[in-house]
Amino acid sequence: MITVEDLYKVYHQGKREVRALDGVSLTVPSGSVHGIIGHSGAGKSTLVRCLTMLDRPTSGTIEINGVNLTSARSNALRKARRRIGLVFQQANLFDSRTIADNVGYPLELIGVGRAERLRKVDELLGLVGLGDSGAAYPAQLSGGMRQRVGIARALASDPDVLLCDEPTSALDPRTTDEILELISSLRGRDGLAVLVITHEMHVVKSICDSVSLLDGGRIVESGRLTDVVRRL
Ligand code: ADP
Ligand code: ADP
Repeated sequence: MITVEDLYKVYHQGKREVRALDGVSLTVPSGSVHGIIGHSGAGKSTLVRCLTMLDRPTSGTIEINGVNLTSARSNALRKARRRIGLVFQQANLFDSRTIADNVGYPLELIGVGRAERLRKVDELLGLVGLGDSGAAYPAQLSGGMRQRVGIARALASDPDVLLCDEPTSALDPRTTDEILELISSLRGRDGLAVLVITHEMHVVKSICDSVSLLDGGRIVESGRLTDVVRRL
């Protein structure tokens, strides 16, 4: 479960102060998919940068299963980061590595042995429907398949939260629906909480249990999908 409380991020554009995040609070319980939707400039990228700790929030807290990321120091922070699996618009795979080696890369980084890595990679490739593609290279795969590899890689370290940042914005409509179906199917996996950040209502409507509408750095609507959609 991920909990964000009263998150602020203030930028300075010359003399002007911009509150890219202006008191954002949200909770995504395990086993559910929560969507954050907003237009360009709403603060989505800033929120993603804060959640991934590429950027320090000005104030407020981010907790994953009770561990406060905002107060964690380097070692604890590195560990905490592994609690979040990241899925981006493009999978950004290593072209010179096989699909299996791409998926296993996060495990290699933390020193997981080869046998255990192969076992995990096999399981994950099966999960995303690429059981036969482990030996292939990224260039041999379609965009949708590469995104599946990206999702498998994001799950390699058994994260508590899967953070998907515009996961289908680079895909055609049919592939989009396939990837959304896959993301949706992950909600029950080992208590995973899924957070999807998007500018597309279609994405939210097809897979989210609950949704927050971000506008000008604030959450202006939040609740169950059906309730929020009715209010829009
Ligand atoms: P700051 O040091 O003000 O927090 P950065 O070092 O991230 O900001 O960026 C330097 C400058 O580049 C900012 O002051 C801003 O004018 C501009 N800038 C960078 N990213 C953006 C963005 N996404 N939107 C608008 N301006 C930006
Ligand atoms: P979105 O991803 O929803 O388009 P952003 O998080 O990129 O929104 O931007 C939110 C606001 O914060 C915008 O007004 C943008 O100009 C400003 N902003 C984002 N990053 C920076 C930065 N590094 N420096 C200054 N302003 C920024």
